Amino acid sequence: MTKLFLILLIFIFGLLVGSFLNSVIYRIKNNKKIVFDRSKCPHCGHILNWFDLLPLLSFILLRGKCRYCQKSISWQYPLVELFTALIFILPLVFPNNFLPSDIFFAGFWQILCYYFLLSAVLIVIFVFDLKYYFVPDKVLFLGILISVLFNVLIFRELLISKILGALLFSSFFLFQYLISKGKWIGFGDVKLGALLGFVLGWKLSLVNLFLSYLIGAIISIGLIAVQKKTLKSEIPFGPILIIGFLVSLLWGNEIILWYFNLFS
Ligand SMILES: [Zn+2]
Repeated sequence: MTKLFLILLIFIFGLLVGSFLNSVIYRIKNNKKIVFDRSKCPHCGHILNWFDLLPLLSFILLRGKCRYCQKSISWQYPLVELFTALIFILPLVFPNNFLPSDIFFAGFWQILCYYFLLSAVLIVIFVFDLKYYFVPDKVLFLGILISVLFNVLIFRELLISKILGALLFSSFFLFQYLISKGKWIGFGDVKLGALLGFVLGWKLSLVNLFLSYLIGAIISIGLIAVQKKTLKSEIPFGPILIIGFLVSLLWGNEIILWYFNLFS
């Protein structure tokens, strides 16, 4: 099996998982049970066929409209599918950034499995915070459970660094939450910080925090420049933290090296 073929397979797997995550988001938002019943159009309630549910393809073929009622399908659907697939192939495109580096080493598949589950959790949180301005607890606690389990199994010797990361990340936000009475930062971010900090360990947590404030500043300036937002309006911080997390996970160590080389 060539590497390119493996990447293609995982890309398609990512599209399917993305499609499942869209239905999870819809069902959590509408307080429905996550079971494998038939998907329906949210506008007309028509039961959708398999050919209406092909990730990415159906949206393109139907030009973003429901086949039965012609109402627009949200851009969230193809975007979540595409980004889940892209995020899923990252470990294969940048294998050296995921230890151990040999793709066919058994440990890599354990790490890959952990990465897929964690990414799925973070993609759901990303969409929720961006669209509805909150982080669903059930999903967050699932993420913490997955991370604790896999870290005990794979990265046992790094556990202390990881617990320190969780404490550092969440207490930094908790402090801001307490002194601003929740105005600067939401309690959802405190809990999300604990998860991200635990996954990264204390060193990369610092990179994640630094990057998030940098990205946040750039987005704020951009939005003010195009007059979409004022300085006061609320931009959810969760999605920015998650983008910062992904960059730190993949390139955090290189960023640390680059930073210290500036002074040497
Ligand atoms: Zn419809």
